[in-house]
Amino acid sequence: MKAVRNQGKSILEKDQENVWHHISKYNDKSHPLIAKEAKGSWIIDYQGNKYLDGMSGLWCVNVGYGREVLAKAAYEQMNQMAYMSMTQSHIPGIELADKLNELLDDDYMFFYSNSGSDANEVAFKIARQYHEQKGDTSRYKIISRYRAYHGSSMGALSATGQPLRKYKFEPLTAGFLHVAPPDNYRKPDHLSIEEYNLQQAKAIEDTIIWEQEETIAAVIMEPIITGGGILIPDPVYVKAVQDICRRHGVLLIIDEVICGFGRTGRMFGHMNYDIKPDIITMAKGLTSAYLPLSVTAVRKDIYEVFTNESADNYFRHVNTFGGNPAACAVALKNIEIMEEENLTSQSAVLGEHLKNELQELNNHSYVGDIRGIGLLLGIELVEDKTSKQPAKPERVAKIIKECKDHGLIIGKNGDTVAGFNNIITLCPPLSITDDELEFMIAIIKQVFEANETSKL
Ligand code: PMP
Repeated sequence: MKAVRNQGKSILEKDQENVWHHISKYNDKSHPLIAKEAKGSWIIDYQGNKYLDGMSGLWCVNVGYGREVLAKAAYEQMNQMAYMSMTQSHIPGIELADKLNELLDDDYMFFYSNSGSDANEVAFKIARQYHEQKGDTSRYKIISRYRAYHGSSMGALSATGQPLRKYKFEPLTAGFLHVAPPDNYRKPDHLSIEEYNLQQAKAIEDTIIWEQEETIAAVIMEPIITGGGILIPDPVYVKAVQDICRRHGVLLIIDEVICGFGRTGRMFGHMNYDIKPDIITMAKGLTSAYLPLSVTAVRKDIYEVFTNESADNYFRHVNTFGGNPAACAVALKNIEIMEEENLTSQSAVLGEHLKNELQELNNHSYVGDIRGIGLLLGIELVEDKTSKQPAKPERVAKIIKECKDHGLIIGKNGDTVAGFNNIITLCPPLSITDDELEFMIAIIKQVFEANETSKL
């Protein structure tokens, strides 16, 4: 029956009839990108159209597509041993954890999972159990920031500060609180950047105090808010948040799911700031998304609380696929590529070039701000520069479509509920070549120029 059912149907029709696309409007008949092949920075669709992937997939293919050595690493590991659960251990998992400690230049323990959401769920559970086992049984609340994205599962979504992503699924998990992050483009004029950032950090401390510090387990934040529109804090903010956490006995969880693995021009995003996180979550760039893998890194002294005499003081959490040996082997090889090709410093250098080149876009009446760190950039679109009112969604959609028509994929982010879905995002593979970067710059300049005069 199956053969008859699909007879004569195009791949596009089969897609529309069978595949539920992620975060897309139901029955959205706009032509999706049906990808067939990807090499380097390029995606080729089923009709042979080529697109430069200016978003590295979902901010994840850091070393670019088509790396045979990664396919080989997976193949060899699968042949040798396709599966072993992390209730035991295995060689690629051990080697990877050791390598991650070298990269972090510190002493963490690593708990493997499958996705960024999983890694954050694990972080929340560890934070709650840590306090519970220390006798601080009332510390369960997690503070995160509005506009941040921390994942799609119920806990990670509860930590997410983007209401439109959540309201259809409520009630979510209890005990998650939100505080506004620094948005330096929209800071009040009478405050300096430093004053404003300290004020935003103080909002976290105020929340801790108002909620009673003995109820707060952890603060989670990305070093730079990514999905919420590339919000780059001043260093005083990040340091102040760490100090506040320490002062009030609250753990600091740093979400490196996007910022990790070279994206910001440092191996980890938090290394742009003078802090030592208690817990770090990583995914995406860990394997460049060749296979699913994530990790929750936990400072050793926190881990120790799970190893003391009491028989019940262990972490009762398991997932079947987390730390799959082939995924760990791919992650090790992926990190090796990053080191051999100096992709972290390349991210810093090329990112600076891209940001400098794009400053010219400031001449357009509808461009409010251009900000970036490494190969992670945001272009904030506004109705006009004085009011800073966010640009209409149609303007953002038009620019994205026109870039795609010219063979360039870019992203759009922000928090839709407050109208802030007006930030164009750029996050190309760290392995992007100079020519490809120039191609990207040329298309963006051309499309932005045309939009100065074109009607919506
Ligand atoms: N944290 C951050 C900062 C993310 O950007 C994402 C995904 N975009 C996640 C967590 C969740 O990761 P995943 O989609 O792998 O569950």
